[in-house]
Order: sequence, then structure tokens, then C-alpha cells
Amino acid sequence: AFEGLADRLQKTLQRVRGKGKVTEADVKEMMREVRLALLEADVNFKVVKDFVKRVSERAVGQEVLQSLTPGQHVVKVVQEELTALMGGEQSKIAVSNRPPTVIMMVGLQGAGKTTTTGKLANLLRKKYNRKPLLVAADIYRPAAIKQLQTLGKQLDMPVFSLGDQVSPVEIAKQAIQHAKDEHLDYVLIDTAGRLHIDEGLMEELEQIKELSKPDEIFLVVDAMTGQDAVNVAQSFNDQLGLTGAVLTKLDGDTRGGAALSIRAVTNTPIKFVGLGEKLDAFEPFHPERMASRILGMGDVLTLIEKAQETVDQEKAKELEQKLRNASFTLDDFLDQLSQVKKMGPLGDILKMMPGANKIKGLNDLQIDDKQIAHVEAIIQSMTKQEKIQPDIINSSRRKRIAKGSGRPVQEINRLLKQFEEMKKMMKMMGGAQKGKKKGFKFP
Ligand code: GDP
Ligand code: MG
Repeated sequence: AFEGLADRLQKTLQRVRGKGKVTEADVKEMMREVRLALLEADVNFKVVKDFVKRVSERAVGQEVLQSLTPGQHVVKVVQEELTALMGGEQSKIAVSNRPPTVIMMVGLQGAGKTTTTGKLANLLRKKYNRKPLLVAADIYRPAAIKQLQTLGKQLDMPVFSLGDQVSPVEIAKQAIQHAKDEHLDYVLIDTAGRLHIDEGLMEELEQIKELSKPDEIFLVVDAMTGQDAVNVAQSFNDQLGLTGAVLTKLDGDTRGGAALSIRAVTNTPIKFVGLGEKLDAFEPFHPERMASRILGMGDVLTLIEKAQETVDQEKAKELEQKLRNASFTLDDFLDQLSQVKKMGPLGDILKMMPGANKIKGLNDLQIDDKQIAHVEAIIQSMTKQEKIQPDIINSSRRKRIAKGSGRPVQEINRLLKQFEEMKKMMKMMGGAQKGKKKGFKFP
């Protein structure tokens, strides 16, 4: 849904690049694009209006942070405001002081309620050392009970079921009693869904709520359904009063626009996200990451921030340039080493570049602090020509460098190999940059 936003932003950002200060006209122009993109994605009109107003206020005329271009600065503001729009960190789960804690899972059919019930139980045990009871309260869908029982078996956790002839309200009631008897501390009620919201279902859910007094009511929504997810969230929230939402299927081809709207329109915090069919494909919701995902720019902002903290503006620009055109020599490498050292392992920095996740072997590229002194010694033992053109370093030259630096030949081999690998990656990344339309480009 948000495919347009990153593109639009980047285009307008091109226009303000190089300016020392962002003018009101620049921001207006950019905000027009942001507004259009959000509206096109069916985000609530008022939400868009407020959002644009806040971003504009923060972006106009402000002193731009050192080492950020004005364009980057605006993107940063947009990202921060998007993050705020989706709420803070919200992954806490209620704990009742009179156990068991009851959690009701609600949502449309196929949204992922049953799967999420299993995932949540898994997390409760793994992370919080809790003993959950899974409750099969969907008596309508033929295989629903079986599905939950299968999950229970997989997790080695108890599943409470009374078959499909007892009402869901009664099932919930007896399940809670059962949990008390067995000293289980969480009751996760997997309720029925429908293809569309209907009164019968809502009434039933209200009755379950009335009787089981849940500590949490989690709406499970399919992120792929986009704006529709917002309407669903609104209805469920009006009828039941949600305490949180779980956004599923974010592993699919979606940019997470629903996340933005759900929180903004219904004021229901998103607590978790589902990232696959497996039971451990489940994570707390990180608004910041989602904002980056919506803007389609990887962890570039983290990179910008790191650069900001540790490298002065000039050096950062230089480094960025080197990374971009992959033109640096071993001498440059040495030059950058101390700067890079401050930013953390080189592999980590490269990983933050958009498209970098596609590069194999990045994890192997680690240059830790201890090695740096050795690397320095090795490079300093090279001739000028060798530093520019490492290809010429044959075995006799390697021996000479080894002697000069006091390091074993294998280490020189390794360094040259790493350097070669890195250059290769940078070249690939340069290509990835050009080929990847939605990747963030430094304005
Ligand atoms: P329910 O009708 O709401 O109980 O939905 P189910 O839990 O039965 O899930 C419906 C389908 O969505 C199943 O095939 C699940 O494996 C799948 N599913 C659930 N969550 C996710 C997710 O986070 N990612 C992906 N890719 N599939 C999911
Ligand atoms: Mg189900």
C-alpha cells in the first residue's frame, strides 16, 4: 500500500539536496507528496492531516543536524513521526494478580488466530516461563479443534476442548476452572472467526468476554488485507474493546501500511507481528522498524545515526563515497580503519546498507579491534604500488611484507582475501543500489 511513499519522498528529496537549510517551500513540496501517498493508501484523512502538520512543524527552518543533509533530516523527521504514529514499544502482556491470566484471540477467519494462539503460548513459556492452556473455542470450523490440538502436541502443551457440541461460552468457563485446578497461569482462548463481521459472532464474543473477564483481547489481523484491516479493527474495537492487535503475515508482500492505520485510527496498540507459519516466527512489534519498512529504506537511518555519533561530517561523506563507488585502495582502507573502528565491525556497517541482506558471506567479514593493529602493520609494510594494486603482491612480496610487519604470511593472505571480498561486495552493492528502485538513496 505504501509503495509510493519511498519513491515520492526520494524524488522530492533530490530537489533539496545540497541545501544548507530546508525552506518552507521545500517542505511544503515534500509534504504534498507524503500526503498524497498516504491518502492513496487509504489512510484516514484526519490522520494524514495531523501527521503532515507535525512533520512540517519539525522540518521547516530547523538547524539541520551536523552530518545529515537537509534531505536526510526530513526523512528522519518523517520516520520518527511515523514511529510515533504507530505507538511506542508495546509488547508487554498483562499478568493477572489472580491467575490464570485470560487472553482472548479474536479476528476474521483465516487471519491467523489459531496459529497465533500457538505462537503466543510458545513465547509465554519461552520468554516468561509461563504455563499456558490452549482453549479450543472455535466449534464451527470443521478442523479448528484438531488444528489447535496439533499445535498443542507440537508445543507439548495442554489443549482444552469439549468438542463441538458445547457452547464456546461454556468451554471458556470450564477451561478457566481447569487452568485453576492444574495451576496453569495463562488461558489462551482461540475463538471462531467469520469471513465478515456479523452480529451472531460478535454476540458470542461478547458473552465469552462477559464471562471470562479477559485480561487481554487481542485482535489478530492479516497485514495483507491493508486498509480493510482498519475497518475490521474498528468494528472489533467498538464491540469488544481491544487491548492489542497482532499483525500476521508480514512475511508476505506487504509494506505494513495496515500497522500505521490500525494504531492511528483505532488507538489499539500493535503488540506482536507474525512473520511466517512456524511457531517461532513471531516477534514483538517494533514501530521504528515498521516505519523504516514503510519508507522502504532498510536500516539506513541507523547508519546515519551511527555516522553522526562517531564520524565527523567530512569523514562520513568520504566513507560513504568510498562505499558507494568501491574505489578505495588499501591505503584508503587504512585511513578509514580508525573511523570505521568507532562505528563497529565493518560487516555490521555494510549490513545496514539497503540490499545488503542479499549479499552472501557478509557475516564472515569481521575485523575486530585486536586485528586492527596487525592490519595496520601489514599495510604499512607495503609499497605504494602494492597498496593501489594488490594484484601484484606475489608470494615473494608476501614474504617480504610478512617480515616487515612481523606477521605470519597466512595473515597477509587473509587480509588480501578479505580486502578483495570487500571490494567485490561493494561493487555488488553499488549495482544493487542502482538496480533497486525502492532502496533509499542518499540525497
Ligand atoms: P484463523 O482462521 O484465524 O485461526 O487462522 P489460522 O491460524 O488457521 O491461519 C490461517 C493460515 O494463515 C494458515 O495457513 C497459517 O499457517 C497462516 N498464517 C498464520 N500466521 C501467519 C504468518 O504470520 N505468516 C504466514 N506466512 N502465514 C501465516
Ligand atoms: Mg482458527
